[in-house]
Amino acid sequence: MTHTENSIQELRELDKKHFIHPTSPVKQQQEQGPAFIFTEGKGVYLQDATGKKVIDGMSSLWNVNVGHGRVELGKTAMEQMSKLGFSSCFATYSNEPAIRLAAKLAQIAPGDLSATFFTSGGSEANDTAYKLARHYWILKGQPGRKKIISRTKSYHGVSMGATSATGLKAFRDFTNSLAPDFLYADNFSSQSLRELIAAEGPETIAAFIAEPVQGAGGIHVAPENYFKEVREICDEYGVLFITDEVITGFGRTGTYFGMDHYGVAPDMMCFAKGVTSGYAQLGGVMISEKIHQELTELSTGTLLHGYTYSGHPMACAVALKNLEIIEQEHLIENAEAMGQELLNGLYRIKQERKIVGKVKGLGLMAGIEIVKDLNTKERFAAPMSPAIVLEAAKQGLICRSVVLDDQDIVVFAPPLTINKDEIKKMIEILNHSISVIEADLA
Ligand code: PLP
Repeated sequence: MTHTENSIQELRELDKKHFIHPTSPVKQQQEQGPAFIFTEGKGVYLQDATGKKVIDGMSSLWNVNVGHGRVELGKTAMEQMSKLGFSSCFATYSNEPAIRLAAKLAQIAPGDLSATFFTSGGSEANDTAYKLARHYWILKGQPGRKKIISRTKSYHGVSMGATSATGLKAFRDFTNSLAPDFLYADNFSSQSLRELIAAEGPETIAAFIAEPVQGAGGIHVAPENYFKEVREICDEYGVLFITDEVITGFGRTGTYFGMDHYGVAPDMMCFAKGVTSGYAQLGGVMISEKIHQELTELSTGTLLHGYTYSGHPMACAVALKNLEIIEQEHLIENAEAMGQELLNGLYRIKQERKIVGKVKGLGLMAGIEIVKDLNTKERFAAPMSPAIVLEAAKQGLICRSVVLDDQDIVVFAPPLTINKDEIKKMIEILNHSISVIEADLA
């Protein structure tokens, strides 16, 4: 439903005055107001208050895996909230959706990940993983193992621990004091990880954390043997290996979890986003059966870590329904097939356009590097990807630019429900948008 001019104007003014937007340009919001005020969505499309329809080429924040407008998820939420809106999971109290979801996750997760601690999102999941890893080492009689190693282009969220683990420096520089004991290995160098552990002393390292495919850092897919080597190094030095599957989980890369591509099992796994496709706020950390047993045997009292909404019944019920949809509609297989279609389309754009460098991706996570010179790979002095993203939005496609860490990349992650025609449309709009920017450069 579209709004009147007056009502849109009113919303824009209220937004400017009262709404502090997450990860948004502050002055731009104050000067221009919100870029879109979305009112509804269906499939891969979002519609704003003016009636404009755009393809959600990012699944909003890499999370609306089953697409927009899923009435069945709304119905599930309503039924659960009508029956039991909330009850706590502290003090061993439980509820059926949380129990069933934890059991379902144990069936689908890599390796022997078998038990879940629930959170409200990915940052909380990351903080929980770091605390559980450190707590584990205290119980094991090695309290000196407290350092967490991540990687230079990683993104793990914005809570204090997750920001500290985030390798992308701009996020850490946002504030002037962070959590201690976080270190960064070179992005995809297992050798750098080995050297860092050796230099610091293995007896000081609690865990290593990595995203199977880096998203916010600009779509970086690991070299084939990287994670096998990482697993070996972690085993050699007794370091816990944590995967951050907040983006890559639940079909995004064409397998249930990103790590399934590499045949490597982590000791812990963070998840969020696609577990509910964004229809409810939920995340969590899974731990292996071995660690679960050890934690249980060594525990001396209460697990003093818990969020009010850990195991929220409505969020867990929505997650269960969401996973049912992903499986029944074969969305993981579709992500693999449509991911190939998307990559092929991006390669076609690369052939036609002068400023498109490397094309990369896995499943429905893809990106193109923008370069000034295809031969030397020299970048533009001022990144061009923001202008491309702006033009694409005007033309009806939402995508995202990554300019952090000296990069100039346009990234895509459409809903896993996307079909060939919709990919074709995405590619047409993108190609045209880049041609407009190229014409401006000429
Ligand atoms: N980890 C990764 C890999 C992410 O991409 C994100 C968010 O984009 C997070 C963690 C943080 O999740 P949340 O925003 O739900 O706190």
